[in-house]
Amino acid sequence: MTARIRPDLESIPAYTPGRSHPGAVKLASNETTHGPLPTVAKVIAEAAELANRYPDNQSSELRAAIAEFHGVGVANIAVGCGSVALCQELVQITCDAPTDEVMFAWRSFEAYPIVTQVGNARAVQVPLTEGLAHDFDAMAAAITEHTRLIFVCNPNNPTGTAVGRAEVVRFLDAVPEHILVVLDEAYYEYVRLADRPDGVEIRRNRPNVLVLRTFSKAYGLAGLRVGYAVGDPEVITALLKVHIPFSVNRLAQAAAMASLEAREELLDRTDRTVAERDRMRTALLAAGYRVVPSETNFLWLELGSRSGEFAEASAEAGVLLRPYGSDGVRVTAGDPHENDLLLAFATDPEITGRFLA
Ligand SMILES: *Cc1c(COP(=O)(O)O)cnc(C)c1O
Repeated sequence: MTARIRPDLESIPAYTPGRSHPGAVKLASNETTHGPLPTVAKVIAEAAELANRYPDNQSSELRAAIAEFHGVGVANIAVGCGSVALCQELVQITCDAPTDEVMFAWRSFEAYPIVTQVGNARAVQVPLTEGLAHDFDAMAAAITEHTRLIFVCNPNNPTGTAVGRAEVVRFLDAVPEHILVVLDEAYYEYVRLADRPDGVEIRRNRPNVLVLRTFSKAYGLAGLRVGYAVGDPEVITALLKVHIPFSVNRLAQAAAMASLEAREELLDRTDRTVAERDRMRTALLAAGYRVVPSETNFLWLELGSRSGEFAEASAEAGVLLRPYGSDGVRVTAGDPHENDLLLAFATDPEITGRFLA
């Protein structure tokens, strides 16, 4: 007889590895296409030589470096095994009853509903606006006495849309102070809005607001798994309590510190990615696709019920994309030659005839 497992987990899809397409270009996971800088690779190799030793469970040096970078105290910083781990820990520190509610827009980051359910809380999903951006009025109206945590993914994954600073502040002003609001800024470095909201600045004097950033995207360390939170010391202390011990490994801590030091060089790359993103959007719009403006390193193609089929066809053409049910397909901006491959596929008259008719 197999062991009893929580029955509610049956509604979470089991992880199914994607079909492998040897040699295909991968524009499916919002990664950077560059490997680590030589200086970062060297630090990773050095850290690997101490693999027999546990890492610093407090990530003291890394937290100090992040705190200095943002001009805040070490007590304001927590790190996690990717910011996705912090998302799960945030549910754990705010929700302790099945009636507790975690609110987020939909569609948004697919980890939010999963960490909510795993944390035994109730997900409240508020539809995006017609322009596929956060509907802050609807979110404020959906707050109840049970609301414990609100995720605001800005810019939003997978639609790429961003809301400006004034709108974010107006929303925060509308949320009661006992509710924790998380500004998930995984794509912060790609935002080129004139009023780019900087959560770290916005959250000053707002103890119920916490910001998530990650080393996985612009910093190019997705494979090492490290992200961080900037928040009120009491919230940070709670996060440290539920943290899985040693889950931010030695290589990740060392690489994140080296990447912070090399950030000028790494962030220069984001200008090129942004230029590619905009070039791709222009070409896709010209071919007849519906693509909302993006402030990230990816684009969202509104392909409705044909999304899965489109992603299969692109995979056969050698480009892996990420389909989302019957909503759309997410395309990461990669290297120019990779993006050219995608554009050659997507603008082929046979493909536009098949998918845009
Ligand atoms: C990629 C991403 C993250 C970062 O995930 P990591 O666990 O740090 O790799 C967080 N939030 C959103 C919305 C993302 O798209």
